[in-house]
Amino acid sequence: MTTEHTAGQDEPGLVALGQGLRASSIRPAILFTVAVAVSLAIIVAWGAWASRQHQLRDKQAATFDLTRALGQQAYATIKQADIVLFGLVERLQTEGMGRRELQRIQTLLENQRAQLPQLHGLFIYDSRGRWLANSNQVPSSNLNNADRGYFIHHRTHADSAPYIGPPLRSRSTNTWILTISRRINHADGSFAGVALATIDLDYFLRLYNTLDIGKNGVVNLLLDDGTILIRRPLRIEDIGSNISQGELFSQYLKIAPQGIATSYSAIDKVQRAFAFTRVDQYPLVVFVAREKQEILAGWRKESLITAGIVGFFILLLSYLGYRLIALMRHQIRVEKQLREARTKLIAANKLLDSLAREDGLTGLANRREFDAFAEAEFQRARRSSYPVSILMLDVDYFKKYNDNYGHQAGDECLKIAGRLIRANVNRQTDLAARYGGEEFVVVLPNTDIQGAILVAEKIRCAVEQAGLEHVLAPNGLLTISVGAAAMIPGLGDSHAALVNNADQALYQAKHAGRNCVASFSDDSRS
Ligand code: GH3
Ligand code: MG
Ligand code: MG
Repeated sequence: MTTEHTAGQDEPGLVALGQGLRASSIRPAILFTVAVAVSLAIIVAWGAWASRQHQLRDKQAATFDLTRALGQQAYATIKQADIVLFGLVERLQTEGMGRRELQRIQTLLENQRAQLPQLHGLFIYDSRGRWLANSNQVPSSNLNNADRGYFIHHRTHADSAPYIGPPLRSRSTNTWILTISRRINHADGSFAGVALATIDLDYFLRLYNTLDIGKNGVVNLLLDDGTILIRRPLRIEDIGSNISQGELFSQYLKIAPQGIATSYSAIDKVQRAFAFTRVDQYPLVVFVAREKQEILAGWRKESLITAGIVGFFILLLSYLGYRLIALMRHQIRVEKQLREARTKLIAANKLLDSLAREDGLTGLANRREFDAFAEAEFQRARRSSYPVSILMLDVDYFKKYNDNYGHQAGDECLKIAGRLIRANVNRQTDLAARYGGEEFVVVLPNTDIQGAILVAEKIRCAVEQAGLEHVLAPNGLLTISVGAAAMIPGLGDSHAALVNNADQALYQAKHAGRNCVASFSDDSRS
């Protein structure tokens, strides 16, 4: 019997389901989303870090260039004043310091001062510190500068080098000034006085205040002994103070005349990037510092905007990833439910199919299945010209059995008969069916009448030997009668004719006394 239902595996719908999403594909999806978000964050962070380093380097280089430019400016400013002093000293030493010479010098001083904007004043003092001449038209009769540091320096130092002194308050104008001075000698080399040029510290400060070094930037012009000459931002108490103990003098300037570095201020807790340089030929140092926070302000703003944009995209990506994964989970759940529903449906279909083909009481094929099977076999036999046999089986005196033992016992009896019939129909290609009531039918393809009689006899014996009690039967046992018919189907023959023949043979078997097998022959037609 080849009626096994194979629906399921080959259905296209099920194949498509098999290729659908699996639970194992969720983990890679999560990993992918996380990896993309993390990579994005790392790339942006790395970019921001690189840009920060770049910014710091750039600003430090710019600060260093600025420092050198300020160093050159300081050099040029002082050099100009010093050249004037040098000329004055030469002239006074060769021409002497008589009344007429001093009068001419006085005019010269006024002219020179007018030429050089940085000059606060030009002054000539004699060996006792008395004012001999000045560019500022200050009446010089009683003034004396013998107490000034530069004066004392030149009186006690015979060398002719210029001297730059600590910042002072001018006696003539009361403003903060920087002094450059040279010693004047008599012909014999003895001390004759001092020529002094003063530079308004405001001249430097005005320039320093124009520099773009941030709100908290610092510019210092220092003497190389650590004395502050001028400072931006200006704090009067800082002018003239000494920072030689600071790291600029104790560390950096000892290593190199110029350079850049960063330092952390213990005083204002501010981190600064700074540059410094010694000024050519003069004992001066320029120092420029910028607050790191300010240097990085632009970078910080830019980075915050970038971080904001990237953060937004990471959030968007995470949200989309989350939605996608939720969707995948949902789809997997739905597919699972679909598969389960399909499996149940297939099982239900199988059941329905078998119910449609089976007899409910005996489990044998039912009449419908028999008709389809017999007709198919009949056609096949016609094409191949081999014989088909049919057995019609009928329980003997069954009405009496029912009457005697009851309808339920009758049903049980039919079940046993069905089992015995099936047990004795051996070939795979044979089919046993319940024909109706207490009648059964067996289709035996490729079997002639002799073979059919053998099978019929076997079944009949099996029922008889089962020894089922039937007290109202002549021999006290339940028995069956069988009619057998065989045919090599020809054109126009149908299986109904063969069934009819078997039925006639059964009729003969009944007539012959029951519990026997009769075969159909053409004689029996008559
Ligand atoms: P015979 O030996 O000539 O075949 O006599 P019989 O009594 O078996 O034949 P008959 O056709 O007169 O009676 C058949 C009885 O089978 C009638 C009915 O009560 C009984 N029968 C038919 N179908 C069923 C069934 O499904 N269950 C039970 N218990 N009895 C059935
Ligand atoms: Mg009957
Ligand atoms: Mg009967």
